[in-house]
Amino acid sequence: MKSQSDAFSDLVEALKVLPNVGPKTAQRMAFDLLQHHRTGAQRIVNTLQTALEQVQHCRLCNTLCEGDLCSICSDKTRDVSRLMIVQMPVDVFSMENAHCHDGLYFVLAGQIQPTQNQDLQSIALEQLLARITEHAIQEVIIATDFTAEGNATAFILFELLKRFPIKISRLSQGMPLGSELEYIDAGTLAQAVYERKSMQ
Ligand SMILES: [Zn+2]
Repeated sequence: MKSQSDAFSDLVEALKVLPNVGPKTAQRMAFDLLQHHRTGAQRIVNTLQTALEQVQHCRLCNTLCEGDLCSICSDKTRDVSRLMIVQMPVDVFSMENAHCHDGLYFVLAGQIQPTQNQDLQSIALEQLLARITEHAIQEVIIATDFTAEGNATAFILFELLKRFPIKISRLSQGMPLGSELEYIDAGTLAQAVYERKSMQ
């Protein structure tokens, strides 16, 4: 890349923050944007700038939204007694798409790595515990991924939450190990919620 300008190299470096984009792909994307899609590139700049300014974490559930509260937390028709815990904002989207949960959500925004020192700081546990003690929650549904990390996170959550007088359940275990919620089809996801198992 010696012949390329610094601006080009900086763009390639910046594109590498995207998921599953390595140096080669980033370089190809940079060439493509600058050669063939300059209008589209400007649109990405503008919309990304606006999204960065306006999209933030919901004060209650931690998902991404515009404003202080997301549309689900603001919806008075939702069942406030049931709280579903998911790992990422995209999981809320998958669950809503499956139309299988009319309660509220809490987004951990992370997971626990079972192979490393369990880094409880990396997920929003304090915020979750405050949510459970301050609201009239009767059932917590743990909807973490069916991966080693998701299972470890579910186990830690159960250990933390079992002291509360609430029902704790987890999605039914019909999925192959390694399944992430995001990639499970809506019908299968809905079935896993309806057939959820109590963790007691
Ligand atoms: Zn919310």
